[in-house]
Amino acid sequence: MPASNHSRRKFIKQTTQTGLLVAGAGALHLNAWALGGIANNLQTGFDQTPLPYAYAALEPFIDAATMELHYSKHAAAYAKNLKEAVVAENINTQQLLEAALATTSKYSTKFRNNGGGHYNHELFWRCMKPGAAAAKPEGALAKAIDNSFNSFEAFKTQFADAAKSRFGSGWAWLIISADKKLKISSTANQDNPLMDIAEVKGTPILALDVWEHAYYLKYQNRRPEYIENWFKTVNWEFVAQRFSGI
Ligand code: MN
Repeated sequence: MPASNHSRRKFIKQTTQTGLLVAGAGALHLNAWALGGIANNLQTGFDQTPLPYAYAALEPFIDAATMELHYSKHAAAYAKNLKEAVVAENINTQQLLEAALATTSKYSTKFRNNGGGHYNHELFWRCMKPGAAAAKPEGALAKAIDNSFNSFEAFKTQFADAAKSRFGSGWAWLIISADKKLKISSTANQDNPLMDIAEVKGTPILALDVWEHAYYLKYQNRRPEYIENWFKTVNWEFVAQRFSGI
């Protein structure tokens, strides 16, 4: 066989061997976000995925500088630290991150903070999109919101209240509980409703980051104004997909 061919084969063989774990995690991503419907559109992997829009795309509601810092520094650090925690605790990355989060109490605080931090941000980016300002939930999701909260406006008020009243850093959530009910909840730090340690458990379909790093550059201490403007970025089609995937 020609030397070049041999080298190429050798290279492919080595790459395949050393790349197995990485490729496995990458495949989970594809299922998760790129291919959406393959499973139930609720799955995420252990690596940071590309932001689905430009840093400036959510202007004027979320400014480009905040998005760049938030994605490339804060969220990137959670993904990096999650990798370290995964190695330190020998956590299987062939499973979904959701499965590991469901047994958070077995692992270290480093896993809890960074596994949550990574998952929460991967979800958060996809809960927003450019050009959504006049959008509202439609179809089955709209009906479920009306049934659970009386109206979309009442839902918004209750969700915003959960986000405003979270003391310090944390998140507001719209979740589906195990008994298939829509609920609003809030968690501290990078905890999330998938974790076995969460007070209110369920599958999150909408996530709002109320850490100061999410809004301080543009809104300073005006968290309520950030929340009101964030609603104008919500990707309701994505939320509806998650709702119907459960
Ligand atoms: Mn954040």
